[in-house]
Amino acid sequence: LLHMRGVDMRFGTGVHAVDNVDLAVRRGEFVSLVGPSGCGKSTLLRIAAGLETRTGGSMDVSTDAIGYVFQDPTLLPWRTVTGNVELCTQLQHLAKPVRREKAQAAIEMVGLQGFEDNYPSQLSGGMKMRASLARALTLDPELFLFDEPFGAIDEITRERLNGELLRIFRAQRFAGVFVTHSIAEAAFLSTRVVVMSARPGRIVGDFDVPFDADREPSLRADAAFAR
Ligand code: ATP
Ligand code: MG
Repeated sequence: LLHMRGVDMRFGTGVHAVDNVDLAVRRGEFVSLVGPSGCGKSTLLRIAAGLETRTGGSMDVSTDAIGYVFQDPTLLPWRTVTGNVELCTQLQHLAKPVRREKAQAAIEMVGLQGFEDNYPSQLSGGMKMRASLARALTLDPELFLFDEPFGAIDEITRERLNGELLRIFRAQRFAGVFVTHSIAEAAFLSTRVVVMSARPGRIVGDFDVPFDADREPSLRADAAFAR
């Protein structure tokens, strides 16, 4: 779904944020991207999402359906949860009943039912994150990019959200790239862990997560099946 070859990013400021990165993500894979702050993880994700233009290398993305969840949840304060979740499908000019239906399904998927009419200021941080996850889900993404979605959320809520994300991943079968600072989170969620180092940002490790039959047998089986 995503194939980067020798991708390079040098900012006008002279910062060499991404150095010669090769990264391929196949259907059924959930890849965690870890590395120190400033090593270029967000930049790499933004390049994959088409939000930033690389300065070198090549990239193939074989889908238009890309979901992206930003490091800070970006909700429009003047729109309710439903209004925010409908934003992407509205931009796609889908008919209102279809938008409503997709929004409601996504809201239920992330467990926000009952909060449809709340404004962002009336939500907790975790709920805002769920709303922005729901909004991305309405795009039926084949490739889903997560930039530290649970970074600012307490550990107990985060663990629950991780469980939900895993369940959604298994139901929707998108390919995921998940930036995190938590090795535990990476090990729990992903089928592969990619490690970046800083200055310049390059990939220094790429590991399959060892099969743990007790933990997530069906996730691993799904991933193997999808390949
Ligand atoms: P964190 O874990 O803190 O989110 P990160 O790995 O996501 O860090 P990036 O945000 O990708 O790191 O930044 C990588 C490097 O590129 C940093 O040195 C940063 O200062 C620089 N950088 C990022 N965006 C820009 C920009 N728009 N203009 C100039 N430099 C930038
Ligand atoms: Mg970042």
